[in-house]
Amino acid sequence: MKYQRPRGTADILPGEVEKWQFVENTAREIFKKYQFKEIRTPMFEHYEVIARSVGDTTDIVSKEMYDFYDKGDRHITLRPEGTAPVVRAFVENKLYGPEFPKPYKAYYIGPMFRYERPKAGRLRQFHQLGVEVFGGENPATDVEVMLLALDFYTSLGIKELKLVINSLGDKESRQKYRQGLIDYLTPHYDELSQDSKNRFEKNPLRILDSKDRQDKIIVANAPSILDFLSEKSQNHFDTVKALLDYSGVSFEIDHRMVRGLDYYNDTIFEIMSEAKVFGERVALGGGGRYSGLVEEIGGPETPGVGFGLGFERTLLAIEAEGDTLPLEDSIDVYIVGLGEATNLDSFKLVQAIRHAGFSADRDYMNRGAKAQFKTANRLKAKVVVTIGTEEIEQQVARVKNMASSKEEIVPWTDIYQDFASIYQKITN
Ligand code: AMP
Repeated sequence: MKYQRPRGTADILPGEVEKWQFVENTAREIFKKYQFKEIRTPMFEHYEVIARSVGDTTDIVSKEMYDFYDKGDRHITLRPEGTAPVVRAFVENKLYGPEFPKPYKAYYIGPMFRYERPKAGRLRQFHQLGVEVFGGENPATDVEVMLLALDFYTSLGIKELKLVINSLGDKESRQKYRQGLIDYLTPHYDELSQDSKNRFEKNPLRILDSKDRQDKIIVANAPSILDFLSEKSQNHFDTVKALLDYSGVSFEIDHRMVRGLDYYNDTIFEIMSEAKVFGERVALGGGGRYSGLVEEIGGPETPGVGFGLGFERTLLAIEAEGDTLPLEDSIDVYIVGLGEATNLDSFKLVQAIRHAGFSADRDYMNRGAKAQFKTANRLKAKVVVTIGTEEIEQQVARVKNMASSKEEIVPWTDIYQDFASIYQKITN
């Protein structure tokens, strides 16, 4: 029997994982600049937490949840996204209290789970990083969150980006728009897909997000939400646009964009890539403002804004643009031990060199000199330390700079006392 990983999952192997670490480190540096602190929530949540926040009529909740009843008959789901869990943690831990900073800024990095049809850049276990800003309605936070995401991509060398924004308005704007949309869609009702018919009464805005071809044609001429914005929402959106202009960032407005989650209002945005690997224009990340969400989960009224972006798509975009990450893939020292008698001293030397602060490895297979040097080259070792029976007798080692072939004979006592100086000398 051959076991395979479940469909839509990936093993991230050594060689590949270094790229992930690089992307993650880049993100952490940028989060630090913008003063976001990390939050780690469980990988599974009560189903209700997600269903209430993300929305019952969304694809995520209605089709894509990895939910199950646990042995205590609790309805549990693997988290499909990061915002709802962070909001739950914000409320449960009373992070809105007076002792916490305002706005409260948190970021997360980790796996998310959606039962989707896998393809390039779409998996069932994928990885997101995201930020949330709780408290405050200042449109500057909306824009800072967008700029943070853009900074992240550009510092990874991704340039073919498009920032697309829209406003979903506040409750009042959406109620008016909802009616406008229903009026427009009613004569087309029979032509709509079954999914869209189901959403017609409950949540007609979701029809704008339909992937069905016929739905898309119908929706193309639907009224624009931007014509229904309340004065407050209009002002908010105008300020967002002005701040983006002020930052010199180009953007598009797509009045039909609604995004796949129900909790947004006012500003929403996506950062798209037109890289060919994806076959079509694809969202690398997206986010927006949410106002009722903290209350929905049982907290005090707290506006929020955030985004989530996918690791897998980020890595594909880096590759698509032909960029290579500056990854460190060499080691400082490789110990070549010739003959079984060297085992104990190889052991002592490699440990001493590691403790002196260097990355080091050794042979464990009692291979010949040629094979061991080959390994040292494959590992891109900068320095090789060789011992054989003769060296054991004299308590010395041959220390060789692999690039210049310069070699010195060094007493073990020197290595144990101050390997850093020896390394410095041989590599300079
Ligand atoms: P969303 O939470 O749907 O707004 O997604 C935010 C970002 O997460 C997307 O722009 C993608 O980069 C990424 N993403 C969402 N779903 C998947 C998936 N199934 N596989 C890989 N990445 C995903």
